[in-house]
Amino acid sequence: MTDERTLLFVGAHPDDESFGPGATLAHYARQGVRVYVACATKGEAGTIDPQFFMSGLVTTGDVRWGEMKCAAKALGLSGIFHLGYRDSGMAGTADNKHPDALYNAPVEEVAGRIVQIIRQIKPQVILTHDPHGDYGHPDHIATHKATVAAFYAAGEMKAYPEAGTPFRPSKLYYNVFPRRFLKFAVRFLPLIGQNPKKFGRNKDIDLTALVSEVMPINAVIKLDQPAIRAKNTASACHQSQLTGGPPRRGIFSFFQKLFGRRDTFTLAFPSADGKRETDLFQGIS
Ligand SMILES: [Zn+2]
Repeated sequence: MTDERTLLFVGAHPDDESFGPGATLAHYARQGVRVYVACATKGEAGTIDPQFFMSGLVTTGDVRWGEMKCAAKALGLSGIFHLGYRDSGMAGTADNKHPDALYNAPVEEVAGRIVQIIRQIKPQVILTHDPHGDYGHPDHIATHKATVAAFYAAGEMKAYPEAGTPFRPSKLYYNVFPRRFLKFAVRFLPLIGQNPKKFGRNKDIDLTALVSEVMPINAVIKLDQPAIRAKNTASACHQSQLTGGPPRRGIFSFFQKLFGRRDTFTLAFPSADGKRETDLFQGIS
């Protein structure tokens, strides 16, 4: 099966693939697996500094999609897809009301676009955000719901007949933050003057809320140095979303040394048998 193995990550924004399961994506790409990323939006609602509007790229979406292409190269992806929506921003913001916002799109419609990609590239394994949207971002939650719907619909003859020949993927995983990392971060950040309830560039991530949302960990992927390096290079591509330089420096580097050597996943389908997997393609013949 080696060179037919195909993996699809469906994420909400450019950077979710790198800051999230980037090392795992690189790990599989390096093994010869065809790895694709479908991204729902171009991250139009992210705040970026004026310097990024140089070099002829005029919108935030253009800048961030350019960063996405850079990350795709670093991770060794076989291709990237844009689902055609606009970043919704966090709950209650003006970006939520934009007619193209992912937040306003019916789940069935988003799922249909993902089904089309699944039928085209035929991934055995699909990864996406967890049901909590990682940190409660409405786009992550919307992407999660649509991907779950698409996972089950892709193999059905009657579902989305216009989206190609049915193909049934084998496994569905959610990317989950390691619990140990979150517990540590919640204790550590106040020591360096940061508020764990207002984490991240846009200060909209409440890490303390995440600690209580326990997702089971059914698969642990151990990462070697080349995979970690690829993730770092890909993360550094998303320059507009980084404050204080690429994540290999400073606090990120410290966190990564402690927690970055493995990625953790919840197996959503088929149901987990109690044993921890060490390979996302485990059991697929
Ligand atoms: Zn995101």
